Amino acid sequence: MLKIGLTGGIGSGKTTVAQIFKVLDVPVLDADTVAKKLMESDNALIERIKAIFGNNVYHNGRLNRQYLANIVFKDEQKLQTLNAIVHPATIAYAQKWMLQQNAMYVVKEAALFFESGSDTEMDIMVGVTAPIELRINRVMKRDGISREAVLERMKRQMDEQEKMKCCKYVIQNDDSQLLIPQVFQLHNQFISFGKLTM
Ligand code: ATP
Repeated sequence: MLKIGLTGGIGSGKTTVAQIFKVLDVPVLDADTVAKKLMESDNALIERIKAIFGNNVYHNGRLNRQYLANIVFKDEQKLQTLNAIVHPATIAYAQKWMLQQNAMYVVKEAALFFESGSDTEMDIMVGVTAPIELRINRVMKRDGISREAVLERMKRQMDEQEKMKCCKYVIQNDDSQLLIPQVFQLHNQFISFGKLTM
């Protein structure tokens, strides 16, 4: 079974592309959702987070995301520490999940792949890209936040063009090319690769 990594910068359209794969009945795992779930359910992870960031990070068993975000987004070192704890747990979960799937190929969607080194777990990396202004406008509209807030989030990510250079296939999500035919084309390709590896 082929393992496909799907990545892209904030607002590039990863989740939108992932939805199309899902419609095609492809098993899709969203690493960000997994990470959030594990931070509230994996006891070993919870204890490590509390030990480093304090008990106030949790309130009545629920993660206080805003509190944690305020700590890590002001301090690059703390953000790296958090990622260093959460990424291995997410990667381990994804590995187990992939083994349980019965399909020609699976897709794991994550904003951070190259940054965490988890691209090496995948057979093929696919990038989603869109012009920066379009990404900014889409995120402002989706999240109801200011341009400055979007730029602040973008600043913390690896440069999108660099990211795309590391991907074998790149989906253009720029309003000039339709998404669905691009995903269909990759789907057919992955099915035929999958048959070869059976
Ligand atoms: P993030 O990294 O922030 O999670 P993302 O890469 O997953 O972002 P999406 O959430 O898929 O990006 O897309 C961002 C916003 O842009 C969403 O509101 C989505 O509906 C919209 N969008 C994405 N692609 C298109 C498109 N081709 N046409 C119109 N709207 C789009």
